[in-house]
Amino acid sequence: MFALIGTWEMSRKGVTLGRETLMQGGFAGDAVEEAVRCVEANPDYVSVGYGGLPAADGQVYLDAAYMDGDTLQCGAILSVTEVSSPIAAARKLCGRKTNWMLCGEGAKQFAVSSGVPLKDMRTPASQKRWQEAMEQKKADDVPAPYKGHDTVCILGLDENGHMVCGTSTSGLFLKVPGRIGDSPIPGCGFYCDARYGAAAATGLGEDIMRGCLSYEIVARMRAGQSPQAAAEGALSEFVKKMQELKEDHLSISLIALSPDGRYGAATTEAQFPFTAALPDGVHVFSCTPKGEHMDITSASPEEMSRLN
Ligand code: ASP
Repeated sequence: MFALIGTWEMSRKGVTLGRETLMQGGFAGDAVEEAVRCVEANPDYVSVGYGGLPAADGQVYLDAAYMDGDTLQCGAILSVTEVSSPIAAARKLCGRKTNWMLCGEGAKQFAVSSGVPLKDMRTPASQKRWQEAMEQKKADDVPAPYKGHDTVCILGLDENGHMVCGTSTSGLFLKVPGRIGDSPIPGCGFYCDARYGAAAATGLGEDIMRGCLSYEIVARMRAGQSPQAAAEGALSEFVKKMQELKEDHLSISLIALSPDGRYGAATTEAQFPFTAALPDGVHVFSCTPKGEHMDITSASPEEMSRLN
């Protein structure tokens, strides 16, 4: 059995590429990196890598992480500019005993010294988006920093039972420079333990971090829950807690994968698309809240054209 599970429809090309590696008996880590790199390199995906969403100062600051589920080792880079593939740099940090989470200039220097090329990650389109938002902000005098974000998260399982996960994002549009979300933080934006499973999150990092939701999902799988029950249970318990605190408007979507290749998803959104590259092909699923549970259906041709 092998599987690659990715957040959002934007991960479809990447998981398709990574699936080739897994079909040839390759390592989950290579497939995860290929899938994330594919999204990072595409300027049409505006919330990850090249052409990502700019911060308030117009610069594109990127966060990425990689976790090996066999060793529980991680690598992460935070708030870095000009690193052409943040996931490649994060993976190169994985395996160190210390200094595996680097931010800013230090992360950039590490990327250069480890052979990840630098590149201006701003594009004319990202600069135009920033310019327009700044003009709008002046006109409204109401900053709207939390509109527009999405992280690519990939969970991988290979034929040899290795499990790996990777995340990459430009974070929130118009964020304060230096702001970090959940995506490069273990237990929050991702977690992977090959004995029990892997999970990852996308949405408002400031909310996700308060629930350590990825760790919570893996802990539930360790206790015997299916990936679907674990994702749903972790989310609904956290939503209840937030409602008790009178905090709503949560924006959280979650994916999960078990060591035997079962997967699950949960969301607070009206609809959350995710992808699954499996031995029988590549699928795009739609996750929709339905009462206490989630409805997971194949994305219809209409949904697919809307998502594209
Ligand atoms: N979780 C990301 C962050 O807060 C953004 C997203 O996934 O939408 O930076």
